[in-house]
Amino acid sequence: MKQTFKLIKIFDIPIEINYSWFAILGLIIFTLAKGYFPATNPELTEGYYWLMAVIAALLLFACLLAHELSHSLVAIKNKLPIHGITLFIFGGVAHLAEEPATPLVEFKMAIAGPIMSLLLALLFFLLSELSFIFGFPHYWLTLANYLLMLNLAVAVFNLIPGFPLDGGRILRAAIWWFSGDLKKATGIASAFGKGFAFFLIAIGLFNLFTGSIISGIWFIFIGLFLEEAAETSYRQAMMKNILSGIKIGNIMTTNLITVPADLPLNKLLDEYFFRFRFTTFPVVENDQLLGLTSFHAIKEIPREKWPELSVKEIMLPISEDFTASKELDVSQAMLKMANNGLGRLLVIDNNRLIGLVSQRDVMRLFELKTELGG
Ligand SMILES: [Zn+2]
Repeated sequence: MKQTFKLIKIFDIPIEINYSWFAILGLIIFTLAKGYFPATNPELTEGYYWLMAVIAALLLFACLLAHELSHSLVAIKNKLPIHGITLFIFGGVAHLAEEPATPLVEFKMAIAGPIMSLLLALLFFLLSELSFIFGFPHYWLTLANYLLMLNLAVAVFNLIPGFPLDGGRILRAAIWWFSGDLKKATGIASAFGKGFAFFLIAIGLFNLFTGSIISGIWFIFIGLFLEEAAETSYRQAMMKNILSGIKIGNIMTTNLITVPADLPLNKLLDEYFFRFRFTTFPVVENDQLLGLTSFHAIKEIPREKWPELSVKEIMLPISEDFTASKELDVSQAMLKMANNGLGRLLVIDNNRLIGLVSQRDVMRLFELKTELGG
């Protein structure tokens, strides 16, 4: 299942939201409406607190988006294609199709986000000063102050020198600049990222045992998230490095088992799924690829309907999401497979199916290449 959904497109960049964001959004609104706003504006009523909390949370969301967009715009300016932006709990991730070509490009890209957050903090500082000078209602001041503090926190947190945080990317750019070795730079910057993650977890555990349960859980939660991010980003960077230049046409499986479009579902189960035990099969008619059928789709359909329905009626029709040309780079194919939720791509030539690659194939190739590389 996909963990994100598409929200909008800005500058032609698709913006996706990770579902975890809603939990955090709810938590932010709740703590603001029950804690911060009643404490700073005791004269207002409950309804106001909730309204202000929602406004503050949405503005915070816009600030995080501005932070991510500034990374992406620098990337685009330096001719690095961006596949999209995913907003997570603590900000976001811009999906780069390739690694930056030089340390300088990496540095400019990484620093753009924190600069944007600092500028936003400055903006909210000026707004809070103005509302003070002109005697605006007090809640304007508290709202501006909240966003000032949050943007400062986002800038500072992201400047921590642990990959894949912005500060970690800056550190990587610096080591890369001095050593000329991207691989080494990535290794060191990721190690810093992990070290910082363990530091946060340790603080969290300390808080837990000294009675600060909530902040303890927060620290542990953020630490675990960062640890995982450091590990995956390191692996992805290594993969891009090792697999760069390889086309999927060179590694695809070519002896494929396909199913006819008019096959009834009971036969699809007996003659294909149970016999070959794959989770998906390409659907082909007259040498043309029509779509992809999955075991998952059959499970949703009541058993008594199986003989009446054919493969054509339940398949995913052919789409850009799960097809590719044999010229596609393996590293880009990995990105596509991660995004389509299927973990595989059908390789086509003029709608004719010529092969298949799966995430597992690429991982295996990566393992073999790494083993050889020492
Ligand atoms: Zn950033």
